[in-house]
Amino acid sequence: MAHRIHQKNPIAELDGDEMARVLWELVKEKLLLPFVELKTEYYDLGIMNREATGDGVTVKAARAIQRLGVGVKCATITSNAARQAEYSLKNLFPSPNGTIRALLDGTVFRKPITAPRVKPSVVTWKKPIVIGRHAYGDQYKAAELPIPGPGRVELVYTPAGGGAEQRITVADLEGGGVVQGMYNLDESIKNFARSCFRYAIGEKLPVWFAAKDTVSKIYDGRFKELFARIYETEFKELCDAEGVSYSYALIDDAAARMIKSEGGFLWACRNYDGDVMSDLIASASGSVAMMTSALVSPSGAVEYEAAHGTIQRHYYRWQKGEKPSSNPIALIFAWSGALAKRAELDAAPELAAFAKKLEQAALRAVAEGDMTGDLAGLAEPAPERFLNSWEFIDAVAKRL
Ligand code: NAP
Ligand code: MG
Repeated sequence: MAHRIHQKNPIAELDGDEMARVLWELVKEKLLLPFVELKTEYYDLGIMNREATGDGVTVKAARAIQRLGVGVKCATITSNAARQAEYSLKNLFPSPNGTIRALLDGTVFRKPITAPRVKPSVVTWKKPIVIGRHAYGDQYKAAELPIPGPGRVELVYTPAGGGAEQRITVADLEGGGVVQGMYNLDESIKNFARSCFRYAIGEKLPVWFAAKDTVSKIYDGRFKELFARIYETEFKELCDAEGVSYSYALIDDAAARMIKSEGGFLWACRNYDGDVMSDLIASASGSVAMMTSALVSPSGAVEYEAAHGTIQRHYYRWQKGEKPSSNPIALIFAWSGALAKRAELDAAPELAAFAKKLEQAALRAVAEGDMTGDLAGLAEPAPERFLNSWEFIDAVAKRL
């Protein structure tokens, strides 16, 4: 075997389910192991092993990501009643991604992979727009109350250690309606800002943060103030040195400018805004199979994965002996992201160069007309025929 690149420290490897698991094995065998002396701490998050370990394996894997600083995860089944019957499960465990996110206290960054020949719906976009979504609080942890008829609605704060109560009137209602009370925590907002600046410095991207502090002076005002404070006190120097800028905008203004922009920035979004904008950007950018996702913990540890699921429908066809055309590009980029991060932490330029080459080989294959079915439908010009996953991975390997 030819010279293989040495990898100093391990990556936490989290295996998964169904078609994504089939592709995972294939990517390792054809695109990684021939080139790198791959070192991983392997955790099998396949549904049967989560069941066998009482979901302990998920917690162990999350701790490994925190300890090693880098993880890479395959898509996993989130169990529900249908999956319980399908796999004869005794227990229904929570979504592994939810468990890992809670343990890492992380922010999720979603980044589209742009491939030549696959044009985004918004013609001005030349570079990807990354969404950093604050995945905590606001509407997602709100208290809501239907109001049957006229009456007063108040907000009351009772200090835990005693002391004066605070009370304000929300409204004196003249008729029935609805009311919602939501909150966020200073510490969570600060960690959100930290994760965004860390990610942006790593990727050399300008940071936009947007809210509506002209209307919500105290609530959105707090977000704006804490974001600016974290920037000024913890990141400004590093950002200046790395050429990373920070700006605040009103959310409606940011949305209008985003559509006219060339892309190539990180848009830090509040929870609800991020929910809406990440799906908008995903669909405007192309295929679900071309979206990567990185979970960044405030400690700096990062978990990389594809944003898509286990591709269940393709898996059932594979079980019947067919060779489906599932696109492995987001999985390949999850690995290249993790290897590049490992290289950065270990100061390993040869490994960093390989991660780059791996991405380029996948994109070059698409540019030269070798692609899976999902992209063939979007490509201009369309290729004469599309490849199945095995043929596509061979086409990438050939270009490596
Ligand atoms: P999915 O796996 O993302 O697939 C939905 C559909 O999108 C597929 O049937 C396929 O469409 C297309 N697709 C997705 N990835 C593709 C790829 N790489 N190449 C080509 N086409 C692709 O979502 P799902 O079927 O709703 O969910 C399946 C399982 O995944 C569920 O058990 C869910 O819990 C889990 N899930 C896990 C994660 C995660 O671990 N991060 C995320 C989401 C969902 P066509 O069939 O039309 O070709
Ligand atoms: Mg959504």
